[in-house]
Amino acid sequence: MPSPTPDLPVGTAGQVPVPARHPRLDPLADRYAARTHGMKSSEIRALFSVVSRPEVVSLAGGMPAVTALPLDAVGSMIGELVSGMGAQTLQYGSGQGDPRLRERICDVMALEGITDASPSEVVVTVGSQQALDLVTRVFCDPGDVVLAEAPSYVGALGVFQAAQARVQHVAMDDDGLVPEALEDALVECRARGDKVKFLYTIPNFHNPAGITLTEERRVRIMEIADRYDLLVVEDNPYGLLGFDREPMRALRARDAERVIYLGSFSKTFSPGLRVGWVLAPLAVREKLVLATEAQVLCPPSLTQYAVARYLDTQPWQQQIKTFIELYRERRDATLESLAALMPPGTTWTRPDGGFYVWLKLPSGLDAKLMQPRAVSAHVAYVPGIGFYADGQGKEYMRLSYCYPEPDQIREGVRRLARVVEAELDL
Ligand code: PMP
Repeated sequence: MPSPTPDLPVGTAGQVPVPARHPRLDPLADRYAARTHGMKSSEIRALFSVVSRPEVVSLAGGMPAVTALPLDAVGSMIGELVSGMGAQTLQYGSGQGDPRLRERICDVMALEGITDASPSEVVVTVGSQQALDLVTRVFCDPGDVVLAEAPSYVGALGVFQAAQARVQHVAMDDDGLVPEALEDALVECRARGDKVKFLYTIPNFHNPAGITLTEERRVRIMEIADRYDLLVVEDNPYGLLGFDREPMRALRARDAERVIYLGSFSKTFSPGLRVGWVLAPLAVREKLVLATEAQVLCPPSLTQYAVARYLDTQPWQQQIKTFIELYRERRDATLESLAALMPPGTTWTRPDGGFYVWLKLPSGLDAKLMQPRAVSAHVAYVPGIGFYADGQGKEYMRLSYCYPEPDQIREGVRRLARVVEAELDL
């Protein structure tokens, strides 16, 4: 049946008249599941149309610098994969993921001190984003509480909200998540009778805060987790991208039963291949596999084989060093420009790895309200409120230095500094 023109009344001779529908009112509005009510567009996706304009310097999206990959070598490798391995590369595969890739994932995790992981405890996922969704599906009922740093990764908050879990934020400072604040939150939740399902944490080069949890805090946080029988979900896509030091020892390396570890090849190789993973104790792993089979049947075969072959045949650790050098230069350009140009009263974090600087505006300014003026000045950032589940963060913004070239970064920060100055003069 041809669909009616949405803004004209429907109903001609012989037809039951249908009330006119305003095109902007959703006729299915009362039929959606309650869980869709918590779903909202992220601050980052909302910026997509703006940041793709060539005149805009985008310090908004966290897009990896994939042009630094050896594209010809990767292209030939994928071609040879299909011709060499044949139809298998184009077939369905195991719900848990390719066994060879799971072995190689264990080698990657060993770089962060996880030396006891078995491939049988690994589930390959469509990026670590799907891993987050699976873990949340497996553990959270509506109303359950997830503890998360303040601020936290916007994509994780979206998953928790879609599952109707409640997020309780836990303070962080320059050393990462504050152990006392974690303990206070646990005591508070216990007193209220909340079911705390897990702590979600990004210990390395935090998104958006750019902060790394210190060794001393890692020990204390695991002690608290032990004392309160708390499950920890360790999200670690950036851990191998440290500029000035060796990777930190993962939380999972300290406790194999209490920590569920999420990893990804998006930042160390390619985000477009969409390959990530979960490492979990066997009982949890079983549930995760059932959940992923219900969701996607199996992760994509071709991209899993591509990642496994890349790890087997290409100098991937060298490539990570190439990424590190590139991101270090961009981080330096960002920090130097901020120091030279930002008006007094502005503060920011100094990441030693990863993609992000977290900037606090002079008191009284609001990053979200300022955004239209920044866009008019051709610079984009992500306002801080998107990184909180409870409306905090007005005075903050996230700046990503991973994608623009150093000169563009300097120009972007110059434009941003002018916008902030103008805002202070208003
Ligand atoms: N966790 C964090 C902290 C992230 O920053 C990202 C990507 N920006 C993800 C998970 C998801 O990454 P992917 O699905 O590409 O592995």
